[in-house]
Amino acid sequence: MHRPPPVHPDRSGLDEGLLAAVAAGDARLTPAQALEIHDRMPLAEIGFWADRRCRTLHGDVLRSYVIDRNINYTNVCTARCTFCAFRRDGDESDAYVLDREVLLGKIAELCSIGGTQILMQGGMHPGLPFSWYVELLAAIAERFPQVHVHAFSPPEFVEFVRFFDPPGATLHEKVRAVMEPLREAGLDSVPGGGGEIFADAVRRKIGLGKCTAEEWLTVMRVAHELGMNTSATMMFGHIEGIADRIHHLELVRRWQDRDLADFARDGGGSCKAFIAWPFQRENTPLGRVPEWGRGEGDDPDAPFPGDVVARLDGSGSKDAHPLFGRRVRMAGSTTYLRTQALSRLYLDNVWSIGSSWVTMGPHVGQVGLRFGANDMGSVMMEENVVSSAGTTYCLNEPTLCRLIRDAGFVPAQRNNEYDLIKVHDGPESPDLRITDWSSLRAQRLHQQANRETEPPAGAKVELTVSEAQAVGPA
Ligand code: SF4
Repeated sequence: MHRPPPVHPDRSGLDEGLLAAVAAGDARLTPAQALEIHDRMPLAEIGFWADRRCRTLHGDVLRSYVIDRNINYTNVCTARCTFCAFRRDGDESDAYVLDREVLLGKIAELCSIGGTQILMQGGMHPGLPFSWYVELLAAIAERFPQVHVHAFSPPEFVEFVRFFDPPGATLHEKVRAVMEPLREAGLDSVPGGGGEIFADAVRRKIGLGKCTAEEWLTVMRVAHELGMNTSATMMFGHIEGIADRIHHLELVRRWQDRDLADFARDGGGSCKAFIAWPFQRENTPLGRVPEWGRGEGDDPDAPFPGDVVARLDGSGSKDAHPLFGRRVRMAGSTTYLRTQALSRLYLDNVWSIGSSWVTMGPHVGQVGLRFGANDMGSVMMEENVVSSAGTTYCLNEPTLCRLIRDAGFVPAQRNNEYDLIKVHDGPESPDLRITDWSSLRAQRLHQQANRETEPPAGAKVELTVSEAQAVGPA
């Protein structure tokens, strides 16, 4: 039976005894303590405690990565998220649905470099029949039975329910009616895309046409009930307040407690990993909103509108500040590290915290391994969504391993279950096989340096296998 560690609400979040107990897994933070830590604890200190918590769970030696491929099967989408530069209505010249053979070819490329998993998400395309998804999964399972299929985020499942009208009296039953046949056809786990910020006031402003927090969490509960693992995400650093971020963590933790209690004994799944990343503004409607302090009439000494609105219980009202949603507060590296460290301390029931090098860059991602993250995510063969919003970093396996080793750990390749499948502690390790890093094309690591050679805004940025292998170190 899952028993969460106790809370001690009478103690300060800065109390070292409390933090030592949290690091050991013997106590959990309350939302108010988390807010106090966020607002008052020096960055290095919060990193220290998150690192201790990470070491309790994952030891002092190994930090992991996975070789997978992001495949966005379509960019046609019914939602209109204001932070998205990827979506299309369907009639534009660059709207697409990947042909099945093209998609299978991408998986073949992944296998050729030792990949184990695909992360496959849309667009929520209103014109694809249910059979399209079932047949696609069946074709992948037949051709690549060894590849783990991590696919279709909760907002997609909620749209599947709307598109296909499955039987059921509740959303839970309807999602189950859609998810079961997809699972039977080859779906292995459900990714946590579309989490953004759960608080309703924020979600209604930025996630137009996207599912609610309750719907998102219900989809994950069905996945756990069916024995599949999931992940959770948070996109922050836009219009939300700090209390909204903590409320988001609280919902992930609370639902995880419930699902572990209800399903773990019967072979149920769970939320295995959490990853948070800051909003990337380029080419997005939300990106045109002024930064707080730079808009007309702003008083930069006044509290940020998102903080005025936000409540730790998620009940904030958009009417609490006239500029709510009309100003953003972008998150830089230190905010990223602070938020990631806090997530490690708060989410005591989630196994893995991922470092988001794709948005923050390889070196902040590397530092993240000292701020509570145990996992560097994936070698990046292909990424379409974040690159549409102006951020494109690419790393191959040797470089990813080198970043982990330089952070003081031994790199280990994992699978989607977070089982370690290769520990790179010998001379044949991918990074140790390269002796002269200077001869590689380091400048290609950060593709933004070559802006003039990039495709037009919103176009797909895709590396072939040979290109991905050729990318050199920082
Ligand atoms: S973020 Fe996803 S759901 Fe939202 S508009 Fe873009 S593709 Fe659609």
